[in-house]
Amino acid sequence: MRQTIVAGNWKMNASKEMVNTLIMGVLSGMDTVKARVIVCPPFPYLSQAEALATHSQLQIGAQNLSPNAAGAFTGEVNAEMIKDFGVTYVIVGHSERRTLYGESDEIVAEKVRAALENDLTPLLCVGELLAQREAGNTEAVVAQQINAVIKRVGVEAFKNIIIAYEPVWAIGTGVVATPKQAQDTHAFIRNLLTEHDTNIAQGVPILYGGSMNPDNAQELIGCEDIDGGLVGGASLKAHDFLRICRAG
Ligand code: PEP
Repeated sequence: MRQTIVAGNWKMNASKEMVNTLIMGVLSGMDTVKARVIVCPPFPYLSQAEALATHSQLQIGAQNLSPNAAGAFTGEVNAEMIKDFGVTYVIVGHSERRTLYGESDEIVAEKVRAALENDLTPLLCVGELLAQREAGNTEAVVAQQINAVIKRVGVEAFKNIIIAYEPVWAIGTGVVATPKQAQDTHAFIRNLLTEHDTNIAQGVPILYGGSMNPDNAQELIGCEDIDGGLVGGASLKAHDFLRICRAG
């Protein structure tokens, strides 16, 4: 039985006041939440978020990391620094990183390696563009993204990886994948891993991301291979986020 996981990706939205209000708001409703809940604020707010969430069930994640160790990489943040704040999760390969910052499948795989080597759990994002779906290439794209990670860190590493299937056309658009579209791709991902190792495939959490909200979360998370959500916009309102957290 896989535990439901709901992660909030705040993207580049935060202020000291907002972090305080949002984390306190989420914490106030956590006693009725069974899911594992993670929130991922921007780097400068990790310390504040971590301090507020200490001694609670709420876990904190970063949104990105450098594949490199310390050194001359101006503007970058490495896995050790993230860990230094008591943060245990990191989003890797979000479609905004892939499309806006040119992160290739190989760079994403290196980032997964760097996270795992430092005991951070990567939330590995995969997903196709609209044109790729329309061309019937969804499975090929997702397979290539996952295979690049398997090639770099091996399938065993998926014991410590959370996958997020995020169709790019559904992210921040209000257009949500139908439960069938999402379930089909989640099942495809699990089958892909089954070809390597059945136990790992059965154990790996696969979250759905893309315009998830309190009204559609239950139906999506109710699908057999959907183990929770990676939530952008709706994670910025404590009330909405908590409703999604309770959907599993
Ligand atoms: C995301 O940023 O990962 C995401 C799923 O965003 P939204 O929920 O806003 O579509």
